[in-house]
Amino acid sequence: MQTPFELPVSSPAIPTQLNGSAKIQFSCHKGVSCFNECCKQADIPLTSYDVIRLKGYLGLSSTEFLKEHTYPFEMDNDRLPGVKLRHKDESTTCHFMTEEGCSVYEHRPMACRYYPVGHLSLRKQNVNEEEEHYFLVKESYCKGHEEDRELTIDEYRKEQQVEEYDKNSHMYRRLILKKKSGGPAIGTLSKNSLSFYFMATYDIDRFRDFVLSEGFEKAYEIPEDELVEAIKDDMRLLELGDRLMRQIFFGEKLVKQREGAWEERSEKRKHLWDARTKDALAERHKREQDMYTVDKEDSAVTGFCPDGTCGTNDP
Ligand code: SF4
Ligand code: SF4
Repeated sequence: MQTPFELPVSSPAIPTQLNGSAKIQFSCHKGVSCFNECCKQADIPLTSYDVIRLKGYLGLSSTEFLKEHTYPFEMDNDRLPGVKLRHKDESTTCHFMTEEGCSVYEHRPMACRYYPVGHLSLRKQNVNEEEEHYFLVKESYCKGHEEDRELTIDEYRKEQQVEEYDKNSHMYRRLILKKKSGGPAIGTLSKNSLSFYFMATYDIDRFRDFVLSEGFEKAYEIPEDELVEAIKDDMRLLELGDRLMRQIFFGEKLVKQREGAWEERSEKRKHLWDARTKDALAERHKREQDMYTVDKEDSAVTGFCPDGTCGTNDP
């Protein structure tokens, strides 16, 4: 299975952008000869909402869930962290697959719900709203495409209850898209910013502890009722994290900082930041040089966009 957000470099995806009213021929059920085949080739990136749903269902904290059921990967050249579902031992079989099917079916991730439809968010220049497009993935082992059933992509999304996942993953997608389309303009993200992103996006229970800490209280002024809601509700907490990340990544003024908190912290940490920025710039420069060398060859064959900004132009 592929990520719902990006067309892979080389894939069985049919490279035609489709809209919600496009018709597809597909059906998946226990009687298909390929039952479970896709879950044996699983490559499932998780959104923040996927983590909330799965950890709730399994009765784990986010920290426990991430440790037991996921592995980390880097989403881009800036090392933006992501997480994917674990496999069974050394195989490519999803950790949650059983002979009877998916053991977390009611709470399966967004990528599993969409499959074999891929989801692509695009953002055009000078337009605030993202455009949603879809594409079809036809893998040779998937016999669902031979089943005698036609339906529109919107009908399929409804059937798979994907709308709730789309709605609750909107912040997650928007941030990644904006970060990607900003390119070098947003500068190098420090290890601290990347760690913060990981915590506020995936490790929501640890983020809650952080929001309740004295350090947070000293740094930010959050209205009491908003804070109480965020502490009680994971989705409200994700919203607070999203605003903080947009502030850190893009300089948007969305969360009020206490007077003098930033200056005090900057002064204390200046020597550390100077050293880190120097190291991070050197490391990034090296990575970009390496990547450019490889991609120059690849791009002629695959059309791969070397700087990762194709189709995601930000104002
Ligand atoms: S979570 Fe369930 S549906 Fe998704 S790959 Fe794993 S077993 Fe398959
Ligand atoms: S029809 Fe496709 S999606 Fe359904 S079980 Fe078979 S391979 Fe997986």
